[in-house]
Amino acid sequence: MTLIIDQFVCRSDNFGVLIHDTTSGLTAAIDAPEFDPIKHRLAERGWRLDRILVTHHHADHVEGILPLKQATDCSVIAPAAGADKIPGVDSTVKEGDVIPFGAYEIKVIETPGHTLDHVSYYIPAAKVAFTADTLFALGCGRVFEGTMPMMWNSLEKLMALPDDTTIYCGHEYTQSNARFALTIEPANSDLILRAREIDALRAAGKATLPTTIAIEKRTNPFLRVDEPAVRDLLEMPEATPAEVFGEIRTRKDNFK
Ligand code: ZN
Ligand code: FE
Repeated sequence: MTLIIDQFVCRSDNFGVLIHDTTSGLTAAIDAPEFDPIKHRLAERGWRLDRILVTHHHADHVEGILPLKQATDCSVIAPAAGADKIPGVDSTVKEGDVIPFGAYEIKVIETPGHTLDHVSYYIPAAKVAFTADTLFALGCGRVFEGTMPMMWNSLEKLMALPDDTTIYCGHEYTQSNARFALTIEPANSDLILRAREIDALRAAGKATLPTTIAIEKRTNPFLRVDEPAVRDLLEMPEATPAEVFGEIRTRKDNFK
């Protein structure tokens, strides 16, 4: 059995992602940022869209839903907590739900904080997770609706996934995230090296994603709240992990 994952740019810095199970022929979209690029990619691949898995209610993740539904008759699966804000919902999911997808199972992990309804989708057999606007490469989503401890708890759930889990995210924000990350850990050699690789990828017009849990644990400042060097720099030796996370998130909000 094989799961093909196809990532492409939508809007300006969103990613569209299609997943296709070669055994069953089923195809799903992770979010629907924009109709045209998703429709084109489906046509190029010769895939029929069966369902859309929605991560959260923000417009840049749901605007393609209704036209895609009309064009493909796909079904729309969305987090229960956001169902009233997401168009065209056919069924809802919550923490621990398992969505059958051909030869695969897709697990629902509630990851609130960026929004209250945000969920991530995890496919253990393919070692892949779709974390949308919760975990980014070298960053995390802005905490709009939830609290800092809530967002930290969501990131901890993702950090508990196996290190070799491949992570797809909602946005290409990695290069600016790297600039900020270096202000938190200027001496992290893994981060310095990765920032250079990211600059090279972007200069070549290439995506910096997907990433992995292992790479993020080594370089993403939001996951490194227990590092002595991070706590020293922030002068927060005794703070809780959620407090250190909150400080880093606040600094990022104010970072130019
Ligand atoms: Zn969002
Ligand atoms: Fe977004």
